[in-house]
Order: sequence, then C-alpha cells, then structure tokens
Amino acid sequence: MAQQRAALGYCPVCGRALAADGPGGRPECHACRYVRYADPKVAAGVVAERDGRILLVRRNHEPMLGRWSFPSGFVDAGEVVSEAAAREAREEAGVEVRVEALLGVFSRAGDPVVFIAYAASVVAGEPAPGDEAIEVGLFAPDALPELAFPHDRAIVEAWHAWRAARTRPGGP
Ligand SMILES: [Zn+2]
Repeated sequence: MAQQRAALGYCPVCGRALAADGPGGRPECHACRYVRYADPKVAAGVVAERDGRILLVRRNHEPMLGRWSFPSGFVDAGEVVSEAAAREAREEAGVEVRVEALLGVFSRAGDPVVFIAYAASVVAGEPAPGDEAIEVGLFAPDALPELAFPHDRAIVEAWHAWRAARTRPGGP
C-alpha cells in the first residue's frame, strides 16, 4: 500500500504521500486535503501554405518519430497561442508564417493534449529542418503523406473547408 501511494507522488504542500481516493478519483493528501487536478497540456500548430502547397515536417523525436506532421508544439505558459504556433514553424521549419485563421480546437477523451490548429501562410524564409525535424517538405494538399497524429486528418479537412470558403466569391 505504501508503495502504491508513493507511486501517485507526494503532496506539494505538506510532503505526505498522496492517496487515490480524492474527489473524482483524483490523488488527494489525507493530511492537508490538497487535491491534485490533472491539467491539460495545450499544443498549437499551423497548416502553413506556400504557393498552394502545405508545409510539413518529419519528426526526429517521439512520439511518432519519423512521421510527417504540421509544425507544432506545446504552448508556454503566458505565451499567445497563435504566436506559439508561429514560433513552432520558425523552430521546426525555418520559416516565418502569418497566422490567418483558427481552424479548430481538437481534443479526445483520455488524451491530455488539447491541440489548437491555425491556417497560416509562409511569408519569409526557405523551409529547412530545425532541431526537431529530420526534413521538411511542401506537399500538394490532396497528396499529403500519412500524418502522425489522430487529429491530423480532421485538421486537414478543416483547412480544406476554410480554404474553399475563402476562395469562394463572397467568402471571408
Ligand atoms: Zn498535504
């Protein structure tokens, strides 16, 4: 039992082992009644277009090492989310982007990551892999490689819908 309790970690207030029987099954300290809530992690990324093609990066780290995805990463506390998305494009693909529109907020039951996707345009720089990418590529929107994450297909669909609305006469 002691080992099991230690596996939940320790109370940041008083240092005692947390128990698994807090409200909603959350870890709780029986001494001071601290309850540990599992906060989501916020990640952001861009579907960035240049000359009608979409910028993707091939990941050089887990999860999904070696797979293609959009430039994306975790948002720092205090960072403007759209600026975090643009920063990831700079860090992973070496380009400056202009964020154009919010494509959507993507979450799944049991997944701690909330992903916020933007449509963007590459406005400067030549795509080149940064520290977190094996390679970068520009792909025709209808001929993308297999993508890394469960949300990626829905993000692509949201981008197509946004793009179609934007190019339609009278669209935004
Ligand atoms: Zn405590």
